[in-house]
Amino acid sequence: TWGRVKEQLLESVGRSNYANWIEPLELRKVDNGVAVFSVPTSFMANWVSRNFADTILTHLKAANAPASRVEFKVEPHQSQTVTPVDTAPVAHEPTPVTVQETPAADLPGAPLDPRFTFDNFVVGKPNELAHAAARRVAEGGPVTFNPLFLYGGVGLGKTHLMHAIAHEIRVRDPKLRVLYLSAEQFMYRFVQALRDRQMIDFKQIFRSVDVLMVDDVQFIAGKDSTQEEFFHTFNALVDQNKQIIISADRAPGEIQGLEDRIKSRLQCGLVVDLHPTDYELRLGILQTKAEGYRAQYPDLKFADGVLEFLAHRISTNVRVLEGALMRLFAFASLVGREITLDLTQECLSDILKASERKVTVEEIQRKVSEHYAIRLSDMIGPKRVRSIARPRQVAMYLAKHMTTRSLPEIGRRFGGRDHTTVMHGVRRIEELKATDSQIADDLEMLRRTLEA
Ligand code: ADP
Ligand code: MG
Repeated sequence: TWGRVKEQLLESVGRSNYANWIEPLELRKVDNGVAVFSVPTSFMANWVSRNFADTILTHLKAANAPASRVEFKVEPHQSQTVTPVDTAPVAHEPTPVTVQETPAADLPGAPLDPRFTFDNFVVGKPNELAHAAARRVAEGGPVTFNPLFLYGGVGLGKTHLMHAIAHEIRVRDPKLRVLYLSAEQFMYRFVQALRDRQMIDFKQIFRSVDVLMVDDVQFIAGKDSTQEEFFHTFNALVDQNKQIIISADRAPGEIQGLEDRIKSRLQCGLVVDLHPTDYELRLGILQTKAEGYRAQYPDLKFADGVLEFLAHRISTNVRVLEGALMRLFAFASLVGREITLDLTQECLSDILKASERKVTVEEIQRKVSEHYAIRLSDMIGPKRVRSIARPRQVAMYLAKHMTTRSLPEIGRRFGGRDHTTVMHGVRRIEELKATDSQIADDLEMLRRTLEA
């Protein structure tokens, strides 16, 4: 079982955490509800119990291990080579470090990432509203908006904020039953309950929580019976005035395959979006993370300008940003070199290449309508007068040449126009470009601002 649990832990804590903290653990016994692990050093015992005990326990339980507590005993392992970050002296007296079970531990939720706290969340313009709303919900008090609906693109911090709320509530009021899980897990539990004829238990569990958090709710779109059950659970909790927090990759109204009554329910609360990160936020996040790494690798030299470079060049997804920084430090410490711009480019060439700025059709439309001083709505509207049709064709031309969108896809973004209309527009501009120097200059100028 421990082998299987370890595989799941690898997934939930990530490869480097796993290698540093989980891999060296040895399960000695499960006795009287206590799972006893041996760890090679007391430093590790402390760290693991502080940061990963809950996660380990949750996974053990999910694997049906009869454990309600975990203990870490210090026993120098024979074959164990001490990990580089673990430099604390090896204690010879076994010092057990224990973690008490939380009251919510019997809930069928997903483990919380110990790093996803409010303290570790860097706030900037693009996420300040979502952060403030999350804080408010975590503070407790009367339920003022229900549900809290957080949405935004991949890697912008939705899951981080949800876990932060859960951590905070558990600290503030350990008696509250907080259930966090992904919509996928919700479906999985639901299907399992149906199969095992345990629907009564299922309903009872989900309707008895104080706070329900469902991550990535777009997953249940198109899954009819799961939606149905979700809707009933949702209503039952709202009726009892219990807080619900939902996340998705887009706004409720835009989730296709989600029933209208659910959409309108979701829109009833507070809907806030996490915007793509901007330069300042990326830099802030990088600075925070880099501080951590500098403490971990005190001997590494770090040149000025590297973080600024990364904040400029790497996409809006924070997960990608974090991965890049982790790789950079690991690489530099391995080869024993100073982290310079050259080293950064060498080490991260694939990530940098993948993050090269991609222009969207919407940006093109915006810039072009600004340039010709027409309304954005006219760009996609039906008007055919030359003063509007021409800029529209310019935008179509740029969309064709600067994005990877197909003609039908471009047409759709121009108010549902046909692909032949787009093709005609693109051709017209190609002709004009050769004969009309004003158009040629406009195109050149627009292309440069869009690429900047
Ligand atoms: P999402 O659920 O929106 O796809 P996550 O919450 O999983 O994104 O975030 C991806 C990674 O980026 C996580 O490691 C998270 O800790 C980190 N992250 C995202 N936003 C921030 C932020 N504002 N400050 C610090 N770390 C962040
Ligand atoms: Mg997520």
